[in-house]
Amino acid sequence: MATINCTCCGNKMPGMASAPFSNALGKRIHENVCQGCWSQWLMKQNQLINHFGLSTINPEHQQFLIQNMKAFLFNEGQLPQAEIDTSLEGTIKH
Ligand SMILES: [Zn+2]
Repeated sequence: MATINCTCCGNKMPGMASAPFSNALGKRIHENVCQGCWSQWLMKQNQLINHFGLSTINPEHQQFLIQNMKAFLFNEGQLPQAEIDTSLEGTIKH
């Protein structure tokens, strides 16, 4: 497994076995984010989904998660948490 310079934790760490998405962002994550930081993001993403009642098939919610992911992994952009419509919170039926 290749060692990468992780942009998230700043350490030289083992990278992921494969890209998490089959697009440019997935490639970028694969090349710049270590396995450990990706696992941490997945936990964070679950918290966000549960907290805000997000649907992963809703394009607006997907965008929100991608913005949070970039902020988390690349320290890039502003966390959009304050802007999301939290009226959905608790309304999604599981
Ligand atoms: Zn890392």
